[in-house]
Amino acid sequence: MTRRIDARIEKLDVTAYTIPTDFPEADGTLSWNSTTIVVVEATAGGVRSIGYSYADTATARLILDLLSSIVIGRDAMDVPASWDAMVHAIRNLGRPGIVSMAIAAVDAALWDLKARLLDQPLAVVLDAMHDAVPVYGSGGFTSYDDEQLSRQLAGWVAEGIPRVKLKVGRDPDRDRHRLTVARKAVGDDTQLFADANGAWSVRDAVEWVHIARGEFGVRWMEEPVSSDDLRGLRLVREQAPGGIDIAAGEYLWNPWQAEAMLQADAVDCLQLDATRCLGITGFLTAAATADAHQVDVSAHCAPQQSAHACAAVRRLRHLEYFHDHTRIEAMAFDGVLPVESGGVLRPDRDRPGNGLRLRREALERFRVL
Ligand SMILES: [Mg+2]
Repeated sequence: MTRRIDARIEKLDVTAYTIPTDFPEADGTLSWNSTTIVVVEATAGGVRSIGYSYADTATARLILDLLSSIVIGRDAMDVPASWDAMVHAIRNLGRPGIVSMAIAAVDAALWDLKARLLDQPLAVVLDAMHDAVPVYGSGGFTSYDDEQLSRQLAGWVAEGIPRVKLKVGRDPDRDRHRLTVARKAVGDDTQLFADANGAWSVRDAVEWVHIARGEFGVRWMEEPVSSDDLRGLRLVREQAPGGIDIAAGEYLWNPWQAEAMLQADAVDCLQLDATRCLGITGFLTAAATADAHQVDVSAHCAPQQSAHACAAVRRLRHLEYFHDHTRIEAMAFDGVLPVESGGVLRPDRDRPGNGLRLRREALERFRVL
């Protein structure tokens, strides 16, 4: 086995691609027609890696203008040291948002680089403890008609995924109908999740959590109120019936914000996004904090990259298999993991790194940087 433990990071190549959605997408508080993926390729010792985040082109610019100069020349084996140097360097820019996503994309590329230099799978380099990562199908956009909603949710169930999520909160008059359609499409044996993306007030959220659980058997209510409202999340959680979890955390930009959400007793299950929360390094730090609070973790999106990090999370609940990202990742990369029976992604132990190869030619027409 080849081991190249003396390599220094030589360069970062950064590209960004804006890819139209296959159909207009909307949730309780936002509508969109395209998604931008920022791809970082790091090079050391003749090896090239891939990391990415879903972010604005400003994120790619920040990597080119600042972060690349921070990590180039550093030891490719000491990924947390590069992470720490980046976190230090951006102090005056403000850490949340674009800056966190920029660090996340670089951090993911550096972990993949280390794994490829060691000729080991990424999950193993991250100290995996799970062979397989349960996923849930996620989409069910409020912009879909009944037929589209049914077809998408039933499609995941047909693929063997026993958990699916739809968006709610855009139009209260339609939500009861959409939940009826969703339950009918997936049957009684599938776990049904809902995500309001912070659309409701505390009072409305409490009412909807009871309706969703009582009438439709919903097991998971995500962001019933804004994630900025930790007290509101806790109030909803305290007044929710048994059998339904209150979840939030996709906008946690670093592990310290995760600790604040946990301290507030705001969630039954903490969501974390490795493409936002200061990368795989930040994600795993936040996951360890959740473990200390006896709270499970559910990973948010970017399934092909996140699956490897999820394998190393002790209190892992599941990973969001988000329609938009699933579609983009199949288009952008060779070597994507298929959903296996029972609804799991199994990081490939026979391929080094995250196992992904960029399909440069296929993406070229979407390139914006
Ligand atoms: Mg969400």
